[in-house]
Amino acid sequence: LEASVEPTWDGCFQQLENIERPFEYCWSPVSHLLAVKNSDELREAYESVLDAATAFGLRMSQSQPIYEAAVAIRDGEEWTKLDPAQQRIVEKAIQSAERSGIALEGEQRERFNEIARELSQLSTKFSNNVLDSTKAWELTIEDKADVEGLPDSALAMAAQSFNNAESTEGEATAETGPWRFSLEAPSFLPFMQHCRNRELRENIYRAYISRASTELQEGEFDNEPLIERILELRNEKARLLGFESFAELSLDAKMAPDVAAVDDMLEKLRQASFKAAEGDLEELQALATESGETESLMHWDIAFWAERLRETRFSYTDEDLRPYLPLEKVLDGMFALTKKLFGITVREGVGVPKWHDDVRYFEVLDHDKKVPIAVFYLDPFSRPENKRGGAWMNTCLSRRKVDGVLQIPVAHLVCNSTPPVGDQPSLMTFREVETLFHEFGHGLQHMLTVIDHVDAAGINGIEWDAVELPSQFMENWCYHRPTVENFSGHVETDKPMPLELFDKLVNARTFRSGSLMLRQLNFGITDLALHSALPADSDGTAFDVQQRVSGRTTIMKPLPEDRFLCSFSHIFAGGYAAGYYSYKWAEILSADAFSAFEEVGLDNDPEVIEKGRHFRNTVLALGGSQHPLKVFQEFRGREPDPQALLRHSGLA
Ligand code: ZN
Repeated sequence: LEASVEPTWDGCFQQLENIERPFEYCWSPVSHLLAVKNSDELREAYESVLDAATAFGLRMSQSQPIYEAAVAIRDGEEWTKLDPAQQRIVEKAIQSAERSGIALEGEQRERFNEIARELSQLSTKFSNNVLDSTKAWELTIEDKADVEGLPDSALAMAAQSFNNAESTEGEATAETGPWRFSLEAPSFLPFMQHCRNRELRENIYRAYISRASTELQEGEFDNEPLIERILELRNEKARLLGFESFAELSLDAKMAPDVAAVDDMLEKLRQASFKAAEGDLEELQALATESGETESLMHWDIAFWAERLRETRFSYTDEDLRPYLPLEKVLDGMFALTKKLFGITVREGVGVPKWHDDVRYFEVLDHDKKVPIAVFYLDPFSRPENKRGGAWMNTCLSRRKVDGVLQIPVAHLVCNSTPPVGDQPSLMTFREVETLFHEFGHGLQHMLTVIDHVDAAGINGIEWDAVELPSQFMENWCYHRPTVENFSGHVETDKPMPLELFDKLVNARTFRSGSLMLRQLNFGITDLALHSALPADSDGTAFDVQQRVSGRTTIMKPLPEDRFLCSFSHIFAGGYAAGYYSYKWAEILSADAFSAFEEVGLDNDPEVIEKGRHFRNTVLALGGSQHPLKVFQEFRGREPDPQALLRHSGLA
């Protein structure tokens, strides 16, 4: 194609689609199987072609002749004849190529590539330092009095960790110890929440905020110099591409219009949550004092007392809810909801090969039509021996026209819910139900697209701060009483979840929400501040920026020696640089979309159905074919407003 490319849709982008199709057809099932049915043979086969697959992707997005053809299409006569989806595809291809430095020449191009190489090494090093530093720290406890209050599951894990550690000898048990704790979340969090020994909590907390800094392990895994270098290089990269700062470069490819708009949104949320977070802290202090604590609370006391407060307020556990949430019942309720909202019927299909007996295959039908408009596989249960943890929706095949014939979308929905035990069906936790709704929301956007051009169909081509809209939108229905009545039914009596339990769930949803919101804002604002300033006008180190921002975004200021940034892998080793705000941005969108339904009354069926169809025809149908702000405005009739999120969080 590079040799014969023509500056027309058919001569360039249609050809690219044709080239890419067989790749999707084999590569997406293979990558999928690697995640859900891993084996040595498959891994070996996968790795043997991974380099070639990566190179193919790079060549497709960074080809000079194709870039030039794309620019010629944009500036040529055919442009106005292309539909909006085609125009977006061309524009995005140009943008993505330019962001990889394709338009630079000579020395600038060389420098750009040098920066890219160094940044990639730095980010790997950063992430390894965090992992190594986390792993290298341990706290072994032998005195039973010191683990008082910790739940059995945490003690069992700590005893197992002791037995697995290389440096230890002997047999630990959950009852008698010794117990080994680490800075990894599943060990650290329960310790902070439940350990009654305050000194030990302080000890582990101080280690936690010093991970990968000069303070810990004699600086062996020190990320401090890496942080400064990464920020410097990112700014240089942004300026080479014609942007003022890395934050501007990051936002250029996102839904949020610019840095000022994000700042403004974060500030609104900050103002709404600050007072509530102050109140949260006072509440904890009062509970602690009442319970005999004579000192003021410190950082290492917060999780502990928050957990005590939770126990007094909402005394329920996952186990209380499980019997009401058999998978089959939840699926029926969820499909009934999407039938009502979007006019689709989901039915189980037969006669297709599957990778495991637990896997289910479903067809999605439009109204009462006979031919499916999409199909999906659901792999619901945890299977640690060969399946990755977490939950996700992945595209297996995208909607596209192949020689004039429509190929319907195929989705993979993967969860890690509780499997059936003995004769007992799968009984889910409430969190697992929310996750299923979430992934189905992603799946709906992939499957209900009406766009035939693959790069703008479904979730393809959607800016990543907008992609969580349909998924989080679906989660909201898990707090709607009639929906819950529909998807819950006791495994023995088929009775829906009692109102008393449901109320506890609803109340728990806003527990300490001011504090939680402020914490996310602190991360988001710090991230943006670090990536906005030019090194020349920045004042002091990244840690000074962190402290300065914390003045506005924390109730209890971080300790002067806090080195949290040294383990902030999201922004220094992940894809969230100048993008951490996206979490809140997407929540605003999904809450605001849901509030359109609240406005007409969630139990007002005719209006809810009309809104549901409108949501289907805009957000779910248009996918990446238009700018997400435009799609949102088309659904909502206005720009996004944070008010609904604040209300749902109990902050307005
Ligand atoms: Zn998601």
